[in-house]
Amino acid sequence: MFKLNDINGIKFYTIPSFSDSHLVRHAFSTRVGGVSTGETASMNFGFNRKDTTENVMQNFALLGSVCGVDANALVMTKQVHGSSVHVATPQDIGKRIEGADALVTNDPQAAICTFYADCVPLFFLDTRRRAIGLAHSGWRSTAANIAERTIGKMAQAYGTDPSDILAAIGPSIGVCHFEVDTDVAARFDDRYVTMSDKPHIDLWRVVKDQLLAAGVKENAITSAGLCTVCHKDIFYSYRGDDGKTGSMAAVMQLTQKG
Ligand SMILES: [Zn+2]
Repeated sequence: MFKLNDINGIKFYTIPSFSDSHLVRHAFSTRVGGVSTGETASMNFGFNRKDTTENVMQNFALLGSVCGVDANALVMTKQVHGSSVHVATPQDIGKRIEGADALVTNDPQAAICTFYADCVPLFFLDTRRRAIGLAHSGWRSTAANIAERTIGKMAQAYGTDPSDILAAIGPSIGVCHFEVDTDVAARFDDRYVTMSDKPHIDLWRVVKDQLLAAGVKENAITSAGLCTVCHKDIFYSYRGDDGKTGSMAAVMQLTQKG
């Protein structure tokens, strides 16, 4: 389970095992507590939504003020539903990394940030090597196993052993609402597909199995179990709002070595 926090009217989720490690500051945002208006009200982080850059930057400052991630140190993705993992360094601060759907870093100076409005947020923390990762695992990126690719990049760049990783699967579209066409369903093993009128895919089960297959321990995986379409009051949902919506952000930053 994720923990819902409410500080100064800003609601955001945290992962208890990540908090308990004291190695990171982190958050998964909600739509509650920001300055955006209209269809993106009120805590939008999407630069590509009906909102101003000024509002988005103000929302980052607000989220940073309550979760401790430095809003001036952000390295962000410019996501394409692919499987490219970028190794973020302080030189990337202030940039949006074109074509990246995942970011990893071991530098406490760089805060990493990815964006969501139904796609599955994945959080990674290597507690031994002190490295972190975020991945945007929509169905295309899930089919491309971005979870494994992110872990692989952490292993390559930082010597991460998957058995040292804490992982988390954040709020996103659940099997209850993820209805797809048969050609999309055909991309996934039958055990992840439920048939009603149309097929439904259980992306949470797919990514959990991908994490386990990559060597993450089962008791190191935290699942939010929260469907963004079921909970439109607190989450932006691309499907739930017919595309007229904002974006949530996952943010994470290593603490300085003490
Ligand atoms: Zn649902």
